[in-house]
Formats: sequence, C-alpha cells, structure tokens
Amino acid sequence: MINPINNNNAFAVASPGAPKTDVKGKERAVPPPPMPPEIPPEQPPMPPEPDIKGECTQSYPLSVYDIKKYQEIVNKAEGGSITFLVENGGLYTSTAFRDKLSKIAELVSQLNAYVHDKPVLRIRIVDTLGHRGEFTPGGEGIVISSSVLNEEDCLYTIAHEMGHAIYCSMPKDKEFWQKIYLYSLGNRRYGLVTDSRFTLNSGYYGHPFRNPAELFASSFAAYVMRPNEMICTDDPGILNDSRLMGKILFCYIRDKVVEGKIFGAEDPFKSCDAEKLINSITEEDIYGSIQSALHDSTCDFRNTSVSEMAANELFSRARKNERYSKLLAASAFDKDPVMRRAVIVAICRSSLRDAKMDQILLSALHDSDPYIRALVEGELLKRKINFQKPAFQEF
Ligand SMILES: [Zn+2]
Repeated sequence: MINPINNNNAFAVASPGAPKTDVKGKERAVPPPPMPPEIPPEQPPMPPEPDIKGECTQSYPLSVYDIKKYQEIVNKAEGGSITFLVENGGLYTSTAFRDKLSKIAELVSQLNAYVHDKPVLRIRIVDTLGHRGEFTPGGEGIVISSSVLNEEDCLYTIAHEMGHAIYCSMPKDKEFWQKIYLYSLGNRRYGLVTDSRFTLNSGYYGHPFRNPAELFASSFAAYVMRPNEMICTDDPGILNDSRLMGKILFCYIRDKVVEGKIFGAEDPFKSCDAEKLINSITEEDIYGSIQSALHDSTCDFRNTSVSEMAANELFSRARKNERYSKLLAASAFDKDPVMRRAVIVAICRSSLRDAKMDQILLSALHDSDPYIRALVEGELLKRKINFQKPAFQEF
C-alpha cells in the first residue's frame, strides 16, 4: 500500500502505469500517460527590452528538432547578457513575450552564480511540443519548447533546468545522492519536490524519481521558486519520513549549493546539517524504500516508472547481497503485476547473466501477464535457452 502525500496533490489523480483489467478479466497493457506539461513558476524582477538581431543559420545537433535556422534575441540582464535562439523572431516582439524573456534572463543570470564551470548564456526555444525543457551539458545549454513560454509557471521550468546545469558542474558526494535518491523512491517521498506539487492543476508529476540528477533539479527548483512549500512545516498531510527528506534536501542546497542563501521568508532548519540527517537513514530504511517503490507504477512522459528504477537498483544489489537476491526472486512472482513486470524488465535489460536469473525467466514463462510472457520468450530466445512454450487458454 502506498501512502499518498496529501489529499490535494496530483498523486491523488493518477496511477498512470497501473494495470487495468478488461471485462473478461484479462490484464491488458496500460497506455502511456498523457504528454505532460512540465514545471511551474513565480515572477522575478522586470528587466530591459531585448535586441532582436538578424537571422543566422546553424545546425542543431539533435536532428529530432530539425532546426536549421533561428534568430538571436539578446537580452541584457543585470548579471550579464543572455541570448535566446528562436525559430521565428517575429513571434517575440510583443511586450508580453519580451517581458517573459527578460524575466527568464534575470533568473538565469541570478542562478548562474551557482554554476561551477561554464555559465548558461543561451537558451534555445524550439517550436515543438515534443519536449518541454532540457539541459545538455557542454552542448546547447538550455532548450525549451516555445509552448512553455505561454505558461504562467514557465520560470519554474527554467529553475529546474538551471538545477541540472548546477548539478552537472558541482562537486558532489555521489554516495549521498544515491542514498537520498533511493530513500526518495519509497512511499512516494519524491512527491515532496515533484513539480506538480506546486502546480496542482497541471496534473504533471515531474520526474524526480528518474535519477539523482532529476531529484536534485526538482529539489533545486522547489528551493528557489517554492521554498515555503518545500519545507512544508505546516502541512499536516506530509508524512514524517517525507519531511525528513525535504529537510535533508533543503539543508544540502542551502549549505553546499547556494552558499547559505534563503529564497523564502524563513529558514526553519537553521541548526540542521544535511549530512548528519542523512546518517539517520538506515540500510533497513533503504531496503524498505526499494521494496515499496517496486509497487509504484507512477511514470513520466518517457514511460520511466518508479517501479523500474527500483527494480534496476534491486537487480544490481542482488548480485552482491543475499537479502536483495531473495527479494528479487520473490518480487518476480509477487501478486502485484507492476512489481513482476519491473523485475523481469530489469533482468532482461541487464547484460549480466547467470543461471539463477535464467531460472527466474523460465519460471516467468508461466506468468498470467501476457506482456511478461512475451518479454521472457524474446529474452530466452536471445539467450539461446531452450524452452517449451506453455499453453495458455485465450479468452
Ligand atoms: Zn529534469
């Protein structure tokens, strides 16, 4: 049973990957969740009017966007110039758009103070609905969809992408981030910093569960744009272990990332230290977190699900630790198809092979879920393992 974070947040709305059953009682595959809008914002100070320069031509490294031409709009923000690369400069001549670009430039300039290597000096705006925003280290920097500009909360997307720029550049304790990430997966604790927590109408989850970098980017955006909601000291719907996670993230960003700067009205954790707090999370907590996350079918727009993330971690731990190995074997035959699928997918994806895993796959040939059976059959063929296809009665 997974506890919701509170009655208001977007987790109450959806369980996008949850298996459904049709009228004949057969499980069917779940359609991917609807394309989400990404992240939310708030208003920073007003900046100067940008210059629109002439058109230039450059190749864009990601052919998926098929962008050959764009125009430069240079915005002289207080902390330095930010260049926007847009497909059609004519769309950005209205006062409303110029104001929006100015606000983005101000925020990027402000947050560049925390980027350790190359600051973000340009933002490409692509006319596609194929994605919302991304940061590519050493490449394009920030790329956002023009549709994001129409959203009230577009600065939240920018803060999230700047979080990626900072995470890529900062010296970090990888063990710390792996531990807090695994802890965040259980009982949907990641929901505390998921972008939808702050945009209750959008229904979008954000994806802090995808990896430690995403957890950081979502936490950073929350720290900068919605600090009071992140600390959640007066929200009775937040579970205590989620509060602990929020406290650790808040203190870490405050002390290790933004040199003590507070973006909210107050700092309720003045005497707390992130590293001491994380030491209070035990190996037992992490085991319980992975176990819980294996049941969580929440997924993002790339269909990356919490259960799969947990299964990947379980798989790598199972190879070194008997307790996790037993959990893996039991999970492959759990009554929850979400858990079974995640574990079988993790086994099939791995290039590591051994007799124990082969045996799990052979047993999974008899799974009641046709998706799992098809997956396993394909994998056994790939592994050149002889098997006999069990007869299943089709309804
Ligand atoms: Zn991200």
